[in-house]
Parts: sequence; C-alpha cells; structure tokens
Amino acid sequence: MIDFRSDTVTQPSLAMRKAISEAMVGDDVYGDDPTVNELELWAAERHGFEAAMFCSSGTQANLLALMSHCERGDEYLCGQQAHNYQFEGGGAAVLGSIQPQPIENEKDGTLCFKKLAAAIKPDDPHFARTKLLSIENTINGKVLPLAYLQKARGFVDQHDLKLHLDGARVYNASVALDVDITEITQHFDSMTICLSKGLGAPIGSLVLGDSTLIRKARRWRKVLGGGMRQAGILAAAGKIALTENVDRLRHDHANAKYLAQKLTNIEGFNVNIEHVTTNMLFANVDSAIDQLQIVKELKGEEILISAGNPMRLVTHLDISRDDIDVFIAALKKAVE
Ligand SMILES: *Cc1c(COP(=O)(O)O)cnc(C)c1O
Repeated sequence: MIDFRSDTVTQPSLAMRKAISEAMVGDDVYGDDPTVNELELWAAERHGFEAAMFCSSGTQANLLALMSHCERGDEYLCGQQAHNYQFEGGGAAVLGSIQPQPIENEKDGTLCFKKLAAAIKPDDPHFARTKLLSIENTINGKVLPLAYLQKARGFVDQHDLKLHLDGARVYNASVALDVDITEITQHFDSMTICLSKGLGAPIGSLVLGDSTLIRKARRWRKVLGGGMRQAGILAAAGKIALTENVDRLRHDHANAKYLAQKLTNIEGFNVNIEHVTTNMLFANVDSAIDQLQIVKELKGEEILISAGNPMRLVTHLDISRDDIDVFIAALKKAVE
C-alpha cells in the first residue's frame, strides 16, 4: 500500500523491531522500567525541560498537560484549528472541567496577540480563570516563525499565563527551519511530541515540563488509565524515532514539494506550492471531480488517500519518490 492519508501509518523499522525485542523492561507504574526511564531522562535533557513522561498517544499527552496546568473552572487559549480543541473529543472539557477559549487562526497558523489579549478574562466570578496559551507547531503543515514563538513567550509573561506547545510534529518544524530543536522548545513551559507520526515509532508520545508539572501529569495519567506496565518495549522504539529518524524528515518535506508540483499539473487539482514547507499538502479539487470514485479506484491500485476539499496528502518514511510517480500516474488515469 502507498498510503498518503497520514504520517501515523508508518511502519516501525527493523532497527526498532530489534530494539523492541531486546529492551530491558520493568513495571513502569512502579517506575521500574529502565528503558522508559532512560527515554524520559534523555528526552527531558535533549529538549531543555526538567522532566518528561512517556504516554500512549498525543491526545493523552496534550490532555495531561492541560489538566496539569489548569484546574476545574480554568481555561486555556488556543486556535480554532488547534488539534487539542478540534480533534481530541473535547477531552479537556469532558475530563478536566477546563474551558477552551478558541481564537481564529491567522492564515499562517499563528494567533493574533491582540485578539488573545481581548479574550483573557478579568478576575471576576463571572468568568473562567485564564491560565494557559496553547499553540501548535507545525499546524496543518505550517511552521510557526521563531520570532513569533519569542513573542508568544513575552505575551504569556506579560499576562501571567503559561505556554504549552502541541508539538506533535515539532521536529518537522525544526528540520524545515534547519535549527536545533531547542531553538523552538526554549520558549515553552510544557510541550508534547508524537513519536508515532513522521518519526516512525509504532506507539507513543512524550509530555515535557518542569518536575512539578510532570508529577501532576503522572498522577492524571494513572487516573486516565494510561499507566502502562512493561512499556519499555515501546520506549525502545521511541528512542530510535528521536535519534535516527529526525534528519530524514527533510526527505519527506522535499517529497511533499515534489508531489505538489506533480499534482498541480493535473487538471482540477490546485496546490499553492509555496505553502508546502513540511510533509503535508492541501490541494483544492475541482467540484466536477468525483473524489469518492477516485478514492475507490486508487484503492484498487493499492494507493490510499482521503477525500476532502482541500484534499490533504501527507508524505512520510514509507513514501518514496517512485511511490509518488506511481500515485500521480494512477491519479491522472482515474481523473480522465
Ligand atoms: C496527531 C496529533 C495529535 C494527537 O496525537 P494522537 O497520537 O493521534 O493522539 C495532537 N496534536 C497534533 C497537532 C496532532 O497532529
């Protein structure tokens, strides 16, 4: 299968499978799993945080960060397009009694500080208590500028808020900017990273922050049923994701650009190539094109895409240049 639906579909490499089979493990709820402990210590230091915790998913990691920053009746500011507002089942509200305060994202994915400031509530029993600003990088494949992150830090300091990064794809941002990851992470009080997307691990995410925050998060993780036992078999693959699969993200980015160029040559498909800076592209598709029929035909050729307008296509470590050529040829045929 050539699968463009998401970078979550990546298969663990041989090196990961080997590390999984050889990992030393213990009961992580007791703090006894050496492979998990090693990953958490390494990840905290690598990203400039006091502590880190391995979790089952990005959704859980974001929820734990939100629930550790905010109490019942608090709120977090975020984008309308934020994953931890739109696509996590309303978890912060459902399970944390935390109110989201979404703000329309600007075209480049950023949030306007004027609009954010206007949404901060005064200290008054009528209102939820504004505690946190949560931003996302990359957001829908877009990289937030470093200068913007610095401004966000200044903004939260000025307003006595905390700053969280949903960094599910933060390494796509650092690779696209060609900067060390700490150029991004230095501005944040907490951060989450997905190991199971473009980095290629089968399962797992990290939440990072100061020791107090991570202690709280560890408690909530247990409450949410996320205390895992011999989780070292997953952490072993996660470590490889972070040490061996970062630099190669640049190939995914180049492939996405290549795909965008090929796609715009097909009648009815339109991509703004300049907007393709990481591993994701969004194509506007002519409404005369029967997308569901095309999805079906491509599936017959062992190619998976998701219908949508814009149509989202994602490159990752299991998609090569040749795969893209195969897809483009099949798509041309299907459109005709
Ligand atoms: C995928 C994703 C998540 C959630 O990760 P899961 O592991 O799928 O739960 C959170 N935030 C962003 C930006 C994501 O892309």
